[in-house]
Amino acid sequence: MGKIIWYEHHGRRVAVDEELKGKHKEHCLCFRCARFSFNGEDNCKLAELNFANCRINDMVLPVWECPDLIENKSLLMN
Ligand code: SF4
Repeated sequence: MGKIIWYEHHGRRVAVDEELKGKHKEHCLCFRCARFSFNGEDNCKLAELNFANCRINDMVLPVWECPDLIENKSLLMN
C-alpha cells in the first residue's frame, strides 16, 4: 500500500493510493473482457452499472472479480 494523496479529478478533489493512481486500466478485468465495449450500446450491463456509480460519485472502481467475464483472447496476442 502506498501513501494516500489528494488531487483534482474531473473537477473534484479525490483521495487515491499514490501507488495506484492512474493504474485503473492495468487492474480492471473489464479491459480484458470480450463483453466490454467502449462505445456503450452493446456494453456489458455490469460494467455500465459500475461506470454509472463512478460517474455519479466521482469514484474509480476497477473490477477485480467478476462472474461473467469472457476472456478477450485477442488481447493476449498484442
Ligand atoms: S463481464 Fe465483468 S469483467 Fe466483463 S465487462 Fe462486464 S463487469 Fe467487466
